[in-house]
Amino acid sequence: MRLDQLGDFQRTHRNGELRLAQVGETVRVLGWCRRVRNLGFLVFLDLRDRWGLVQLVANEETAAPELLAKLKAVRSEFVLAAEGVVAERENKNPNMATGDIEIRLTDLRILNTAAPLPFPLEDEGVGEDLRLKYRFLDLRREELQRSLALRSEVANLTRNHFRELDFIEIETPILTKSTPEGARDYLVPSRVHAGEFFALPQSPQLFKQLLQVSGFERYIQICRCFRDEDLRADRQPEFTQVDIEMSFVRQEDVQGVIEPLMIKLARLVGKEVSAPFPRLPFRDAMEWYGSDKPDLRCALKIQDVTGLFATSGFNLFRAAAESQGQRRVRAICFPGQAAGALSRKQLDGYQEQAKQMGAGGLPYAKWGPEGLSSSFKKFLEPADEAALRQGLGALGEGLAIFAVGSDAQTSKVLGDLRTKLATDLAAIEPDPALSQQLHDKNTFAFLWVVDFPLLEWSEEARRFVACHHPFTSPHPEDLDLLEADPGRCRAVAYDLVLNGFEIGGGSIRIHDAETQNRMFRAIGIDTAEARAKFGFLLDALAFGAPPHGGVALGLDRLVMLLAGVENIREVIAFPKTAQARCLLTDAPSPVDERQLRDLHLLPEARQTYRVGAVFFESAEGGSPELRGQALQQISQLTPRQAQGLVTLDAQGQLLEAQTLSGPTFDF
Ligand code: ASP
Repeated sequence: MRLDQLGDFQRTHRNGELRLAQVGETVRVLGWCRRVRNLGFLVFLDLRDRWGLVQLVANEETAAPELLAKLKAVRSEFVLAAEGVVAERENKNPNMATGDIEIRLTDLRILNTAAPLPFPLEDEGVGEDLRLKYRFLDLRREELQRSLALRSEVANLTRNHFRELDFIEIETPILTKSTPEGARDYLVPSRVHAGEFFALPQSPQLFKQLLQVSGFERYIQICRCFRDEDLRADRQPEFTQVDIEMSFVRQEDVQGVIEPLMIKLARLVGKEVSAPFPRLPFRDAMEWYGSDKPDLRCALKIQDVTGLFATSGFNLFRAAAESQGQRRVRAICFPGQAAGALSRKQLDGYQEQAKQMGAGGLPYAKWGPEGLSSSFKKFLEPADEAALRQGLGALGEGLAIFAVGSDAQTSKVLGDLRTKLATDLAAIEPDPALSQQLHDKNTFAFLWVVDFPLLEWSEEARRFVACHHPFTSPHPEDLDLLEADPGRCRAVAYDLVLNGFEIGGGSIRIHDAETQNRMFRAIGIDTAEARAKFGFLLDALAFGAPPHGGVALGLDRLVMLLAGVENIREVIAFPKTAQARCLLTDAPSPVDERQLRDLHLLPEARQTYRVGAVFFESAEGGSPELRGQALQQISQLTPRQAQGLVTLDAQGQLLEAQTLSGPTFDF
């Protein structure tokens, strides 16, 4: 098809902004054809640009034949420039912003054609792999356009927020040295320095601390971070952080610049939240919600009911009561008819899920219209039942689920069931009071989880490792525990949580070399290793480092929650799959051997040969094929009387040559 030129065509309006006010005006618009409908004597075309859709129309009887021919040639996703007169529609479309009007075509240019699409853009059910392979088409969809526009708004609002607070934006290197944030590094081999590697930053942690030593006091960067870890719906190998660091601050000061930002961001999507956000110590979070990122939209708490079973006939529970706190019986109680009416089969389903989380079984007690049914009913005397109801605060109908084991096990199982069951029950029972309590989709529940442990024991490494990162300050009251009882030492570290997602984390940092060295020792890094890995940080701390601290927000996750979508890939223009692949560009992909050799990742295949009139021998071995190939080449190059060293690569290409005696080589 012969294409038209854009030439000097200028749009007068964006497609989404045309209204009745423009009726009678001649307008010029641009965009992609969403679809053409030929209704006999009328031909309709929906034209889409970034700002919306508008209907174009031509009448078979009155339109110029050339225009009609062109219009009929148009297919979905052709790129068009159109001119026409705005008219009021006879049949208005209330679902379309421009649904009151249409443009009666006077001229049409086809700027480009489009092959038939691999999937219809309006189809909701297209497989994600196909969408990612043709991401440039997928990105034409309205939801993605909206999410990426929101992302841009979020970034701008964030930058402005910090600019108003006198923060300064500073870029830090991408090619850098490994900083431990607890994940594997992406490494970049150095060509210039054989056998040495840069690491892509897991975060700019050390640079932002160094910038405090340099006196910048308030730093921000919206930056890319790279972590080679197993992916989940809310993780990507590369992700974006809003990275903050401040001098002369306590944790409340850092939280104090983040909370107003969250209020503004929530407002961007029409939600009101108020500050200060609740602060919840890590221990309470684990005790009550079984999670260090509790979803506070669900107010139900896990309870310790070990004491109720000290004399029980149910061995599993009694043994826990006698274990001196090694094992506990914990429970969560879901009030209401829907919970009391869950069937045996439904409970078995939850039991299966709990087993996958490491639970042995899932004892329950359920109060329905027929009274109590329980997996351990035969061990319950009437008096026990009353005590149980009272202990759990279970009035009326409802369901209590129990878990027995170490704190870590029971927290995991009950923490997970707490939100899962609450969501399911809220869907069954649309009672507003109850679903409000159980799970309110329209609420943003922010909180800070504080007082994290500084260290945790790693069975794999057989040593303590940092819970946050090794630059986090121990709690001033717990400093001596660093050597005496490292597992009990708290950190001045805090996470920002929204609706069950960790959307940020930070800490007050160690700012003196001595404490930093003590911390390194506590995690098994001796002085020599500390020097080799973090000498520059220790040096910086020795030259007047101010007290400082900061935080980093996960921008992708935050935008995901603001946009109300379930996966961070929906708010990233070109994401990787859960298998860490880019289906669009097919990265990662093999590279040619030459690149690998340049980067010193393949053993050198080059060979040096001593050559001359009467001999030809390899100085360092050499393959028979290469010898044959090389011999031929060298015999052409080498005057018989000369002797020298000739170096060839694996393909037999000449790399270097040096004359040893006799007439000079001539290359
Ligand atoms: N660098 C930390 C992280 O990426 C955040 C911080 O401590 O500021 O998790």
